[in-house]
Amino acid sequence: MERAVKTIVEYTNEKPPTNQYPRLLVSPPSSAPCCFSGMGEVGPPQEDERWVFQYKRCRQCGYVVRVILREIPDAALAAELCALFAKSFVRGFAP
Ligand SMILES: [Zn+2]
Repeated sequence: MERAVKTIVEYTNEKPPTNQYPRLLVSPPSSAPCCFSGMGEVGPPQEDERWVFQYKRCRQCGYVVRVILREIPDAALAAELCALFAKSFVRGFAP
């Protein structure tokens, strides 16, 4: 079975914000001023192919964000990014 990167967050105005973690989180489409101080962790940190992340949810309006905690080291990916960076560096500074 293929491991697809999927999100459990649904951003919508059509439904009231709900926390049915780990199945579904319904969130308003955009954050509000309350979100800056009202975010609480939802569930433990999780991993997908590249990132360790954690869902955070506003206790007041239910806005959900996926917070990246750290990148999972991947030698091949790092090398690829390095090459890409080197290329754009050369292009950017060539006359
Ligand atoms: Zn909020």
